[in-house]
Amino acid sequence: MSDSTRAKVLELCGLWRRGSKRIAFSSGAFDILHAGHVSYLEQAKKLADKLVVAINSDASVRRLKGWPRPIIPEQQRLQLVRSLRFVDAAYLFDEENNKENILALKPDIYIKAADYSPQKLGSAKFLPLGAKVVIIRLQTEKNAKKTHEQKISSSAIIDKILVSSLRQGHLPLCEAEKEMQFLPTVFLDRDGVINKEIDYLHKAEDLVIYPEVFPALQKLRDLGFQFIIITNQPGIGLGYFTKEDFFRLNLAIFKQLQEHGIHMARVYYCPHTLAESCQCRKPGSLLFKRAFNEAGALRAKSVFIGDRTSDIEAAKRAGIKSILVKTGKAGKDGAFKVLPDVTCNTLLEAVPWIENEVL
Ligand SMILES: [Zn+2]
Repeated sequence: MSDSTRAKVLELCGLWRRGSKRIAFSSGAFDILHAGHVSYLEQAKKLADKLVVAINSDASVRRLKGWPRPIIPEQQRLQLVRSLRFVDAAYLFDEENNKENILALKPDIYIKAADYSPQKLGSAKFLPLGAKVVIIRLQTEKNAKKTHEQKISSSAIIDKILVSSLRQGHLPLCEAEKEMQFLPTVFLDRDGVINKEIDYLHKAEDLVIYPEVFPALQKLRDLGFQFIIITNQPGIGLGYFTKEDFFRLNLAIFKQLQEHGIHMARVYYCPHTLAESCQCRKPGSLLFKRAFNEAGALRAKSVFIGDRTSDIEAAKRAGIKSILVKTGKAGKDGAFKVLPDVTCNTLLEAVPWIENEVL
């Protein structure tokens, strides 16, 4: 087995060429190695004498795929791919396309997976004369068509894990459980505060996050606040959408926030309808109590931001300060006769007040 830098692999290629070996080249992130990758590389190897695989560095995976990728660090991804018997050499590379790899290696065959369109193969023009491009369809995709199962891909596997951890009420991919620290906490209602309110919103394509949410939460993060969502989702109890739909929509929100360096610590939700008279539905304070006990929310330095009078009433019952924002319902629901500590047009406008009055 070769060593694992491009320069070392180039030396190996020189040796192979002197022995008239044909060299195939492919690349990828190989983040969470799965059966689809294995059959892809197995087919790739059949096309030449030697198979060289370039693996995207952690930095390039982050640039190409965004949060939460990569899941597996680069050295481990390299180790896994190198250990496959079809792979003759592998190394890490930091570019976002294969131009440098192809110019250096001059492979006889350049192999890409079927989900790459020919237009995306921009690097192919750097291939030496006579070299060819081969597109390999992932075997698992063919199988998926027959069985109507979800296609096997790292992204699908990762989303499955994320959704199942959300089911437990945890945000996925937090650092390993730390000893609970009590932190100043900004509690946020979701619909009408973070994202544009749409009745029974549950599809990621309908999600619109208010643009001012990003700079507001960045500033609050820098002040040392953690963020927890507390949301009523009666659409679940009414059967308009499923918990799974709710988790997937949250995931879409987390991904956008994370792209701005904002981490949502937890989401607490009430899935019940008004008729079920539960304790968790706001203005009930049960979800806040759970956050104080489980999520290290420091009650004395917490605030709840909402767009309905039920949010303000909930904050009162939980014993924390409240801010009414004029987005979403803008407090015009008229359900409770209660006044917030302050009213702000937007979340961003609330930041100076929070800094002065909550911390
Ligand atoms: Zn409830």
